[in-house]
Amino acid sequence: MHDFQYHQNELYCEEVPINKIADKVGTPFYLYSNHTLENHFKVFDSAFNGIDHLTCFSVKANSNLTVLKIFVNLGGGVDIVSGGELFRALNSGVDPSKVVFSGVGKGIKELEYALEAGILMFNVESTQELTTINQVAQRIGRKAKIALRVNPHIDPQTHPYISTGLKKNKFGIEINQALEDYREAKKLKHIEIVGVDCHIGSQITELQPFVETLRKVKELVLTLRQEAIEIQYVDLGGGLGITYHQEQPPHPREYASALIKEMQDINCTLILEPGRVIAGNAGILVTKVLYLKKGTEKTFVTVDAAMNDLIRPSLYGAFQGIQPIVKTEGEEMVADIVGPICESGDFLAKERTIPCLKPGDLIAVMSAGAYGFTMSSNYNSRPRVPEVLAREKEFYVIRERESYEDLIRGEMIPEFLNK
Ligand SMILES: *Cc1c(COP(=O)(O)O)cnc(C)c1O
Repeated sequence: MHDFQYHQNELYCEEVPINKIADKVGTPFYLYSNHTLENHFKVFDSAFNGIDHLTCFSVKANSNLTVLKIFVNLGGGVDIVSGGELFRALNSGVDPSKVVFSGVGKGIKELEYALEAGILMFNVESTQELTTINQVAQRIGRKAKIALRVNPHIDPQTHPYISTGLKKNKFGIEINQALEDYREAKKLKHIEIVGVDCHIGSQITELQPFVETLRKVKELVLTLRQEAIEIQYVDLGGGLGITYHQEQPPHPREYASALIKEMQDINCTLILEPGRVIAGNAGILVTKVLYLKKGTEKTFVTVDAAMNDLIRPSLYGAFQGIQPIVKTEGEEMVADIVGPICESGDFLAKERTIPCLKPGDLIAVMSAGAYGFTMSSNYNSRPRVPEVLAREKEFYVIRERESYEDLIRGEMIPEFLNK
């Protein structure tokens, strides 16, 4: 459940009429519900209360400082994939000992930064990375705690761009190769093996792929123990899906109870890295209708938000629900909802049945709280839109709208061109 609901035909976020926010901040803007974010985190996290666990929110899903702070205040950790995300996370006040660092291409500076900060562990993607981490750790006089990210060859049945656990994917170490690599890791003086990690993909709507993955990981943990390689943490990554349209993903409680069952006999702390399932339905993108164009074949509704603001429809052909901010009784139409960007791929919805709209009407693009703002760009020199948090009767701008000045910050024209 989320907190975007109609009262007398007008869409509210918690107790704030969304129209009121639009009047104040202009359009487009991202809007998150404090209550939904808190509630989703609590429901997910408490579902694992039966076992030792740590919920590390995946920063790439939504990296706003305020959003991270909400989870930090609830005792959460974070999963990061870059030095920039570590910087954000530390600025949100996260305890470094609750930070896990994933990602296929960690640079030397990023490794140093994370080692200095004293993070919980690095999820290592290759033996070369292991060697590099060992060298960096030696140079700065630290020991790096690591898990190897294994690739379990499980098909998560999701979009190919967000599927990561197959042999053909770039992620992780083949699970059959892992034992060998753990033996190598054990020889490295500045490496401390603490875990096994995996992450099979995103927007997964079945339990079976997770359970099969955990079984394979468990088998590996037991094999490692026979070689006196002690594993403290099993990190199962993120990936639990949400309802964008008609998907029926398992509830976090079902997900948790299936995983808890598998964790009984191995005495490890379970780490989870949820992103989408917590933030996805806690946010929307609010945009205004600019123009209507009735072609012979199609009707286009041009709005002031575009693919640079929300790229999921363009990138993955993803479905995002469209809802009017003010519901009207009356006719419906079938239309494409498109943005102002000079690309045919710039759309937010295709052939959607929606109420008849007119210029000036506001619409909500639903389920935009994860991989929304974080994937936005300045393409077509469009300043990035503000992010707003609603809490009960109040709302707070938690990232201001970018200005034209922001667009050219850091750019300079070399002297030889200044004639
Ligand atoms: C993207 C990602 C996540 C989060 O995935 P969701 O589908 O948003 O839960 C977790 N872990 C890793 C390593 C990731 O790359």
